[in-house]
Amino acid sequence: MHPDTHLVIQLQALDQRAGALEKEVAALPKHIAAIEKTLEGRLKKLEADKAALAGNQKERKSIEGEIQMSEQKISKLRDQMLSAKTNEQYRAFQHEIEYLEKEIRKFEDRILDLMAESETLDTNVKKTDAALKQEKQVVEGEKAKARERTAADQAALDEIKNERAGVVQKLPAATAAAYDRIFKKRGGIVVAEATGGRCSACQIVLRPQYFQDLRRGDHLMFCESCGRILYYNPPVNVEDGTRLAM
Ligand SMILES: [Zn+2]
Repeated sequence: MHPDTHLVIQLQALDQRAGALEKEVAALPKHIAAIEKTLEGRLKKLEADKAALAGNQKERKSIEGEIQMSEQKISKLRDQMLSAKTNEQYRAFQHEIEYLEKEIRKFEDRILDLMAESETLDTNVKKTDAALKQEKQVVEGEKAKARERTAADQAALDEIKNERAGVVQKLPAATAAAYDRIFKKRGGIVVAEATGGRCSACQIVLRPQYFQDLRRGDHLMFCESCGRILYYNPPVNVEDGTRLAM
C-alpha cells in the first residue's frame, strides 16, 4: 500500500466523524424548535380556554344584572297594581309581571348552563396549566441538554480540525488538493478499497494491469471510473496474521 494511503484513510475517517457531528449540531436547534412548537400549541389552547371562561363569567354577570332589573320592574308593577282602577288595568299589570317572571326563569336556566360550562372550562384550564408547567420543565431540560451536547460536539469538532490539519501537513500538497476536490465531487467519500477486483465505491471492474500497479503500491492511484483514491488491502492469513503475498 502506498504510504500516503494511510493518511488519506485517516483524513476520510476524520471528515466522516466531523460530518456526523456537524449534522447533529444542525439537528439540535430543529429538535428544540419542534418541542417549543408543541408547547406553544398547548399555551394557545390554555389562552383560548381562559378567554372562554372569562366570556362565560361576563355573560353570567350581565344576566344577573338583567334578572335584578326584571325583579325591580316586577316590584314596581306590584306597587302599581295596588292602585289599579279597573280589572283590565289589574290584568295588564299581572300579564306584564308574568312575562317578566318567565324571562327571569329563562335567564336562570341560562345561568345554570353557564355554570356547568364554566366548571368544564375551569377543569380544563387547571389541567392544561399543570401540564404546561411540567412541559416547560421538560423543554428547559431538553434545551440544557442540547446546549451541552452542542458544546461537546463543537469541542470534538475543534479537536478533529487540529488533528486533520496535522494529517494534511504530512500529505503532499497535490494529494491534499486532490482529496478536497474528490470530497466535493463525490459527496464526501474520497477513498475506496479495491475488493474482488473492483472499486468498492463505483463497482467498476479494474483492468488487470491497473490492479497489479495498485498492489505494488508505488503510486497513490485513483479509480479510472469515479476518480476516488483506491487502495488494496491484501487478505490476512488467519493462521499467522501475516498478509498473504498473493
Ligand atoms: Zn471507482
